[in-house]
Amino acid sequence: MSGSVVLKGLVKTYPGVVAVDHLSMDIREGEFMTFLGASGSGKTTTLSMIAGLTLPTSGEILLNGQDVTFIPPHKRNIGMVFQNYALFPHMTVYENIAFPLKMHKVSKEEIAKRVTQALHMVQLPQHGDRYPSQLSGGQQQRIALARALSFEPGLILMDEPLGALDKKLRQHMQIEIKHIQEDLGFTTIYVTHDQEEALTMSDRIAVLRDGKLEQLGTPEELYEEPKTLYVADFIGESNIFKADVLEVGEERLKLQLPGGRSFYALRCSETVEGPEVSVAIRPEKFRVLSASETVSEEYNVFEGIIKEVIYFGESSKYSVEIGKDVIIIVKQPNFYPATKVGVGDQLTLSVHWRSCRTYCEGLSL
Ligand code: ADP
Ligand code: MG
Repeated sequence: MSGSVVLKGLVKTYPGVVAVDHLSMDIREGEFMTFLGASGSGKTTTLSMIAGLTLPTSGEILLNGQDVTFIPPHKRNIGMVFQNYALFPHMTVYENIAFPLKMHKVSKEEIAKRVTQALHMVQLPQHGDRYPSQLSGGQQQRIALARALSFEPGLILMDEPLGALDKKLRQHMQIEIKHIQEDLGFTTIYVTHDQEEALTMSDRIAVLRDGKLEQLGTPEELYEEPKTLYVADFIGESNIFKADVLEVGEERLKLQLPGGRSFYALRCSETVEGPEVSVAIRPEKFRVLSASETVSEEYNVFEGIIKEVIYFGESSKYSVEIGKDVIIIVKQPNFYPATKVGVGDQLTLSVHWRSCRTYCEGLSL
């Protein structure tokens, strides 16, 4: 039970707003696809068009190869779990799951079978007689998922379903939903603005920005090879600063920091329109070198003064001034024995040139 989804040039405009702007993508059978984007980027509108609750201004939606653009929601065989798609408080868990099946005129025996099955799927087989108020937030969300699954849909849409839960429970539920999805194999389109959640759960992520597709890829592709400065900044953390272009090589650029030191960086675009480019480096790609240590030519070496130390338990972050007004964040695991460095100390850092990515655009957020 799984379905494929194709979006072709999907557009939704409201007076004065282009909510979704020519969105095209293929979502494969059984895939866990996440729409990730800031608030207002068009995630909910896109989901709502796939569900059939919102009519597109133009474009097409195919489910399993069939054009459903003008097919009403109840004929699309799609399950939905929304953050505000709350359980009915006056109904038991059993009745909650049975309700939409009743509406669809499913027989009593069939309802009993499906509710029992759905409760097993979400590992709450004994909870049918309880009321939602007698369940934890995570259990309620699992019941909402069970209700969506009871239809046996090929496609489940989830819009920020874990938004209301606290961090620990949210992380637990992320893994749990992912396991249920993998076991049952239904296609999932999941909406979140939380990049960690997207990285944890997804087979692929579509980053949306102002209704447009900014980049689509696996979590690793998006994190390791962001195609734009926006993605480099939005997914994970990046140090972003400007540097002058000294030489343009085939694969790498020789750059210079304001105030002096030259270094190499990966050339990310075909055309390099100097005189400067933006550089993005992830905080954990740096390594703190000890006084006697040397590194191969593949590594850039920076020196700087520590401006601030933030202790995070498993790691610490140092802000280090490596050039005039270029302050970067360096993240280091806290080994034992702990590195004894503090504000005002000089640090020597190494970073592979491929971890220094360049972009010709400036960052406008
Ligand atoms: P997201 O879910 O990513 O936060 P939405 O899809 O809800 O974003 O909204 C995308 C844009 O469309 C926003 O600018 C929002 O204000 C606008 N929008 C969404 N729904 C409507 C509507 N019914 N009427 C007018 N504007 C809307
Ligand atoms: Mg939304």
